[in-house]
Amino acid sequence: MKRETLKTRRNRLKRKKLIKNSTRIAVCVVAALGVITIGWKIGAPFLEKEGGLAKTERPVVEIQAAETEDGSGAAGIAQLAEMTKVPYQAPGWQYDNTGWWYAVSGDTYYQNGFADIDGKTYHFDGSGYISTGWTPIGGKGYYFDENGVYDETADSSMMVALTFDDGPGAHTGELLDTLKQYGAKATFFLQGVNIEQYGGDAISRMAAEGHMIGNHSYDHPDMLKLSAEDAATQFQKTDDLIAQYNNGAGAVAVRFPFGNTSRELEAIAARPCFMWDLDTLDWKKKNAQANAAAVLDNVSPGQIILMHDTYQATVEACQTIIPELINRGYELVTLDTLAAAKGVELQNGVTYYGFSDADIEAGHISDAGE
Ligand SMILES: [Zn+2]
Repeated sequence: MKRETLKTRRNRLKRKKLIKNSTRIAVCVVAALGVITIGWKIGAPFLEKEGGLAKTERPVVEIQAAETEDGSGAAGIAQLAEMTKVPYQAPGWQYDNTGWWYAVSGDTYYQNGFADIDGKTYHFDGSGYISTGWTPIGGKGYYFDENGVYDETADSSMMVALTFDDGPGAHTGELLDTLKQYGAKATFFLQGVNIEQYGGDAISRMAAEGHMIGNHSYDHPDMLKLSAEDAATQFQKTDDLIAQYNNGAGAVAVRFPFGNTSRELEAIAARPCFMWDLDTLDWKKKNAQANAAAVLDNVSPGQIILMHDTYQATVEACQTIIPELINRGYELVTLDTLAAAKGVELQNGVTYYGFSDADIEAGHISDAGE
């Protein structure tokens, strides 16, 4: 009797999975055909003419104001620019070269807030495009899946950010293998001289595998002792090197050598800058077991952990650290994901210290406004 019930259930699950899979394939085929045919007929001329919502330079004419200015309330409704045509059926979803948006009617769209569509909740940014992934809205982190559907069950309480300075090095590839094996993401603050010495293969992998790429100067000087011009050159040379292996893009964040910084240097960096709140001192220990203990005995949620992938002992320690953190329920994320999940909108020229609950509560996450 029991076995039969199990068998029935298993069959039902199998059937469900089969239906789900075939539905998914059918939806994909239909969607692809739709995008190709409609996109070719109507979308392409639309894109040529306007280049999408965000690129339309005009004052936004609000038909109905968003509930709140910071986008945390119900979406507003704005009017499309004259001459702009809604590419697909309205009301309905629209797609252009920037992303997905929703036409409320033939000449209006949702913007700057939440809207329920077909029983699901979406968020539209100030330009009218849907948000995906962790997004800071009105000081709170919200998670939207790859289709932009709000997932209120997503939990950011056990995130930490592993960060690696001074690389790339001889062992960076091995570290990338370990991160990939466990589906973990990290942030790398790279040094220009080491890109020249060790090549850019690791950078291409970091970009392809979803890691965040930061700038850690060209050759690690104490930047407080440099002229503004020399400090700018330190970043520029490293950005140029990174860009060669990162589809033309430089670093999105900065960490100053030795953490030595000033307001002037932050302005020259012109990106979000990051310190750390768990220092492993791996450069001193050079011992895999001691490095692992430095993390595992001291870690707490929301922290920025400092390590150096230029040391073999650090890369070796990560083979213990990464699976053990995951085992304890931690999610290993990039710094931008950590900030967004904690509701923090990163600003250029501001230095962030860490995102633990205590620091967020105390308002001590960055030097903004200090
Ligand atoms: Zn360093």
